Amino acid sequence: MVGGGPAHDLVVLGGGSGGYSCALRAAELGLSVVLIEQDKLGGTCLHRGCIPTKALLHAGEVADTTREAARFGVRAEFGGIDLAAVLAYQDGVVNKMYRGLTGLVNGRGVTVVTGRGRLTSPTTVEVDGETFEGRHVVLATGSAPSTLPGLTIDGTRVLTSDHALRLEQLPARAVVLGGGVIGVEFASAWRSLGVDVTIVEALPRLLPAEEETSSARLERAFRRRGIGFRTGVRFASVEHTGAGVRVQLSDDSVLDADVLLVAVGRAPVSAGLGYEEVGVPLERGHVVVDPLCSTSVPTISAVGDLIATPQLAHVGFAEGILVAERVAGLPVVPIDYAGVPRVTYSEPEVASVGLTTAEARARGYDIDEVQYDLAGNGKATILRASGAVTVLRAKDGPVLGVHLVGSRMGELVAEAQLIYNWEAFPEDVAPLLHPHPTQSEALGEAHLALAGKPLHVHG
Ligand SMILES: Cc1cc2nc3c(=O)[nH]c(=O)nc-3n(C[C@H](O)[C@H](O)[C@H](O)COP(=O)(O)OP(=O)(O)OC[C@H]3O[C@@H](n4cnc5c(N)ncnc54)[C@H](O)[C@@H]3O)c2cc1C
Repeated sequence: MVGGGPAHDLVVLGGGSGGYSCALRAAELGLSVVLIEQDKLGGTCLHRGCIPTKALLHAGEVADTTREAARFGVRAEFGGIDLAAVLAYQDGVVNKMYRGLTGLVNGRGVTVVTGRGRLTSPTTVEVDGETFEGRHVVLATGSAPSTLPGLTIDGTRVLTSDHALRLEQLPARAVVLGGGVIGVEFASAWRSLGVDVTIVEALPRLLPAEEETSSARLERAFRRRGIGFRTGVRFASVEHTGAGVRVQLSDDSVLDADVLLVAVGRAPVSAGLGYEEVGVPLERGHVVVDPLCSTSVPTISAVGDLIATPQLAHVGFAEGILVAERVAGLPVVPIDYAGVPRVTYSEPEVASVGLTTAEARARGYDIDEVQYDLAGNGKATILRASGAVTVLRAKDGPVLGVHLVGSRMGELVAEAQLIYNWEAFPEDVAPLLHPHPTQSEALGEAHLALAGKPLHVHG
């Protein structure tokens, strides 16, 4: 006898982006669904990730705009940052989205169980002594901040992104360990809010997974903004001083700061949850799945940050939907992860889809590439923004990658992902109109140039 009542079609463990999207789609398809969450529906993205960080970045943008108002002929005085009010704004956004999500999940008839779940067999999850049985189980327990050997997170001086979002006082000086997406976004937001920031990145450039020219443009912009960064150098140790922290680097240099933010990646949450005991294979903590998110246990799937795919909310959504449709018996195809749009929401934003030039060459493509500088774009000039749109195509073939750097470029990558995923040729895109004056015209101009008929291009 099962404590949670008769068997359901689906039991989902974890109510973040991956888990709740799976539950919503499955319920929409008429399946009976139990969704188990130990904390709040919405997971990392809604409560400690995407949404609060973007609210923080927006507060920073407002601060920068206020400081620079005179450049636009507007008299305004920047009086400083009220961090409590920034947090209240951030929480207001999160709470509104949380209420909406809770209503959506309840409205679809998903049974939500609050508590810590543990996998007990290929078809059951136990929560506080009660067993929930599903024809199928979906593991979606997400990820948590990683650290480095010799680095103890204390939550006051040595922080993860979770702590950094809840600070009651802004540090005067901060060292950010890690020049990936999360480190770069915090450095950008904190600088806008008046913090003196230095990023430390072991690899030779910021955002090392992005196109090399995108990193170079970001670094140039960060230099102009007074954001310090040390690349190609590793963290050695951290020592607490009376006033803050002293960070020692591998080249024997030292950085003093009030706080150290550790942004060196996120590790899957898979330990102690019964996965291995039930025979679910793990590799470096990630649940191992096939291209349709199925584990080698036929009744168990896994989605989101728990599996070794890009750690992005929209990837979790797509995987959750894929599993729901597969379990419901609909035809499904694997996700093309190169076709997933990626955005770093710093100022400037860095966005991309498809292959980098190095990846395209490694795959044997002969490529043509156009870089369209935003200096030629009316809207970017109005915004006083700089950056570039880079598009690469296979010679006489489709678009292979789009790389964007500039203010608000995250919005433009939505069009770029259609172009890439539909395997469009620049000649297909060239006749399509872009509204004037918008920054999207730069995308149009780059395709015009690649199709051999540049419009606003010098030389
Ligand atoms: C600072 C930061 C900024 C980010 N910004 C972006 C962004 O701008 N865009 C973007 O696409 N992505 C962003 N991400 C990444 C995004 O948040 C994750 O990719 C996404 O949340 C992954 O979803 P998930 O469902 O796999 O895991 P999670 O969101 O981590 O959800 C897992 C859920 O499972 C629950 N859980 C775990 N174990 C159990 C258990 N035993 N029983 C019950 N419940 C359990 C947890 O409480 C959690 O709610 C950001 C991440 C961070 C940290």
